[in-house]
Amino acid sequence: MSTSVNGESGPRPLALLSVVAPVYNEEATIDEFYSRVCSALEDVRFELVLVDDGSTDTTPAALDRLAGVDPRVHVVFLSRNFGHQTALTAGLDHARGNAVVMLDADLQDPPEVILRMLDQWRAGCDVVYAVREQREGESRFKLATANWFYRLFDKLAQVDLQHNSGDFRLLDRAALNALLSMRERNRFLRGMTVWVGYRQAAVPYRRDARYAGHTKYTLPKMMKFSLDAISSFSHRPLQLATLFGFLISTLAFVAIPVVIVLRILGSYLPGFSSITIAVLLLGGIQLIAIGIIGEYVGRIYDEVKGRPLYLVRSRVNVPEDVTPASPLPPVAADREGIGE
Ligand code: UDP
Ligand code: MG
Repeated sequence: MSTSVNGESGPRPLALLSVVAPVYNEEATIDEFYSRVCSALEDVRFELVLVDDGSTDTTPAALDRLAGVDPRVHVVFLSRNFGHQTALTAGLDHARGNAVVMLDADLQDPPEVILRMLDQWRAGCDVVYAVREQREGESRFKLATANWFYRLFDKLAQVDLQHNSGDFRLLDRAALNALLSMRERNRFLRGMTVWVGYRQAAVPYRRDARYAGHTKYTLPKMMKFSLDAISSFSHRPLQLATLFGFLISTLAFVAIPVVIVLRILGSYLPGFSSITIAVLLLGGIQLIAIGIIGEYVGRIYDEVKGRPLYLVRSRVNVPEDVTPASPLPPVAADREGIGE
């Protein structure tokens, strides 16, 4: 038996479910995505919030068309490509449901799984994340790098992120408001949804291959994503740089008496190559340490500038009362009950 938000027992009533998906050059998948969501959620009252992340193909026209025929489709057009995590945030800002699910628009996250996630939500869970048991149609490179990334993240970061869980998550309004109050620029949403706490639960699923088109996560985007993830949840790289500094200095201090003794004993050989190696090694380590500090300083600079997270070019079907949280976080009480 479960307990609902207000302390009464029984399953939570769902007034409105918001389905949020970022869309970037998905002309080949968007129609299929729309119909799969509609048929999966036949018996659920939902709105579909699609965020166009500065697409350069015919996706914007397709989105306009969908919004024209179905008032449940709300579209937010960003002014340019802001990246997946930011586009997702824009969608969450515009969601009005008392439960919100985010998923990719390329049908790798099957919309049918949402029903199982909803069951968990009704039973009282606030953050329901889908865990990929299998990943179809992804390159070995992608699988290997994802695996390395999660292992590294585990070692460095202070949040316990379930391996093989992506951004396919369902959040209760309370957890969502907590998430939206975090306006940091370098966003790693799946880590942030764990950080907020509340009652969390997992739902296993099989991640399908992309329906059509190709991945929009280029290698540089993936690298930035991993750096954002680690730097926003860990200071350990900075501490490691300090640790290395101490280790190398200790080594140098040990070397001084050794050199003096060798000199006295007369067995000292002037070693050009060993000095060169030492200088290069130290120089390398110093540059790496400065680079790591630079990554953090750059992010601090981004935060200090206080720019909006994204800019909206236009909105279609978005009700007047929806004011995005950027730059101010939404007030929970104001948002509750909207869409009833
Ligand atoms: N996406 C986006 N902006 C970007 C890159 C991707 O909105 O700059 C969207 C994309 O349309 C898709 C989702 O984010 O709905 C996931 O992207 P993709 O499938 O290319 O990534 P992958 O699944 O290969 O990691
Ligand atoms: Mg994908």
